[in-house]
Amino acid sequence: SRTPLTLLGTGAMGTALARVWLAAGHEVTVWNRTAARAEPLAAEGATVARTAAEAVAANRLVIACLLDDASVSEALDGAGLAGRDLVNLTTGTPGQGRARAAWAEARGARFLDAGIMAVPPMIGAPDSGGYVFYSGSPELFEEHRDTLAVPAGTHYVGADPGFAALHDVALLSAMSGMFAGITHAFALIRPEDIAPKDFAPLLADWLTAMAPAVHQSADQLQSGDYTRNVVSNLAMQAAGNTTLLRTAEEQRVSPELLTPYVELMGRRLAQGHGEEDGTGMVELLDLRGR
Ligand code: NDP
Repeated sequence: SRTPLTLLGTGAMGTALARVWLAAGHEVTVWNRTAARAEPLAAEGATVARTAAEAVAANRLVIACLLDDASVSEALDGAGLAGRDLVNLTTGTPGQGRARAAWAEARGARFLDAGIMAVPPMIGAPDSGGYVFYSGSPELFEEHRDTLAVPAGTHYVGADPGFAALHDVALLSAMSGMFAGITHAFALIRPEDIAPKDFAPLLADWLTAMAPAVHQSADQLQSGDYTRNVVSNLAMQAAGNTTLLRTAEEQRVSPELLTPYVELMGRRLAQGHGEEDGTGMVELLDLRGR
């Protein structure tokens, strides 16, 4: 028989999760701060609890999918967590994940933190590529992995409860840089008679072609040798940056999304690392001991 579970938070993501667990035959007890947002799930077979404490009391497996870490504190304040298996799908920082783990363990619960690498339409769609990072109690993960795998793929990244958030945020941070570049690229073509729809496939293919460079960086980081197998060294890249900035100026486009990266490259170059790959800039971002 399927594991019954409690889900706290029926926002966009919580609702998508609840639907998939219900459809898979799990008994689901839901709670949402604004009750009206949980009601539609009752028609699909969910039990709607009046309070978070009541929802937590209903099942051993308790899953929180709330806005942020502060809302988890607010929702679970006063709930009896002893003997519970708490899985926190709420996006947070590594520090928040670690503090939440200590908080849950002090209340007698096992704890797993998570980072969802999916948007609601990818939930319950096995081919969408969406998945969830988990870290924390390995026993909790092993016991509930089949249940957790119902809405999306599972990727356990270690017993340190901060690691799920760290992986999540590292990927999101890289995505943020990618979207900055995409925004700048569209701004460059905007003044011209180039259809964004004609340009988009070129952009998508180029980003895909460049993505494997991460493996090269990883190899350089692990060997500690930033000059290893360099294809485009920093001196050449810095010269290219002049062209990027000058083109922005010609097209009357603000360079503000490019300049931080260009400046960092200039600093590394000024330190005499022109033969390196861009990977060496990681050193300049490392603020430990400064
Ligand atoms: P929504 O804004 O749709 O829902 C937020 C939920 O948090 C609601 O249930 C809301 O309740 C609840 N909430 C907010 N503040 C409090 C509080 N102080 N006390 C109790 N409950 C509170 O967000 P999502 O469902 O989209 O996101 C939920 C989590 O999933 C977030 O951490 C988000 O980062 C993560 N996530 C979302 C993705 C997405 O694309 N949507 C993608 C990946 C991760 P109420 O209805 O009463 O306001």
